[in-house]
Amino acid sequence: MNRRMAAVNILEDREALAQWVAENRRAGRSVGFVPTMGALHAGHVSLFQTARQECDRVIGSIFVNPTQFGPNEDFQRYPRTLEADRILLEGAGCDALFLPAVDLIYPPGHQTVVRVGAVAEGLCGACRPGHFQGVATVVAILFNRVAPQRAYFGLKDYQQFLVIRQMVRDLGLAVAVVGLPTVREADGLAMSSRNRYLTPADRHQSLALYRAMTAAQAVYADGQRDPTRLEETAREVLTGAGIDRIDYVAVRDRETLAPLTRIETDPVLLLAVHVGVARLIDNRILQSEL
Ligand code: AMP
Repeated sequence: MNRRMAAVNILEDREALAQWVAENRRAGRSVGFVPTMGALHAGHVSLFQTARQECDRVIGSIFVNPTQFGPNEDFQRYPRTLEADRILLEGAGCDALFLPAVDLIYPPGHQTVVRVGAVAEGLCGACRPGHFQGVATVVAILFNRVAPQRAYFGLKDYQQFLVIRQMVRDLGLAVAVVGLPTVREADGLAMSSRNRYLTPADRHQSLALYRAMTAAQAVYADGQRDPTRLEETAREVLTGAGIDRIDYVAVRDRETLAPLTRIETDPVLLLAVHVGVARLIDNRILQSEL
């Protein structure tokens, strides 16, 4: 049978996962891991496809992690589309899917968390208190249970990628963290599970994110090196499109996310805005030469 279309092995309990992990370890196979919250799209698929190329076995997880949602966020209504996800994963060359219940990840009495420092504190860390602690904690737990050699993340969630990379360094975890480019719709909107919250009017308005990044890139390529001016350029595009709830528009050091007074190496522009009921984020590394 063509392994790419083989049924995905669904692992729901601790023992089934442990057995899968032990089998691969015994056989000396490398394992690539893609943690997700489901409602999968082509952005997720790109992570699985790269894992497939680089590892002997590929495992994904779907876990809508309650600890990374704030009290007024979309945990309850986060899209859950397991059957469609399973079909997508079969086509993406995924071997196994870990589907833990909440109390497998957080057993009763759970009281240990992972809190990453400076890189997790600004931007989404400031707008969503506790979010990155929830992310770092769940990823650490998943890494321990799945024990992958490599783990794949999207650069769409740029700060999340840096937070996880930092955690892995600081805790000395034996996993290579791989960041992969953002997959976009044909018109530039970054794919996101939350895009399905957008009405047609919201969907139209959401294109301003891509336009804002393109505008900032253009003035950067023309030589503008004042971070505030670059941020203003992007912000004007957003407000011009009627986006009035802007969490942040920020030009930051691409490795540390520290604010910049002067730009010496190509920085990252990060955006977070609300369109309708959706909170959308996107980012772009500004390039002096395209
Ligand atoms: P999520 O299910 O939203 O938690 O995302 C799971 C993984 O997929 C994370 O590493 C995300 O950064 C990544 N991801 C989400 N959207 C995209 C996208 N448009 N392109 C590439 N990776 C993505």
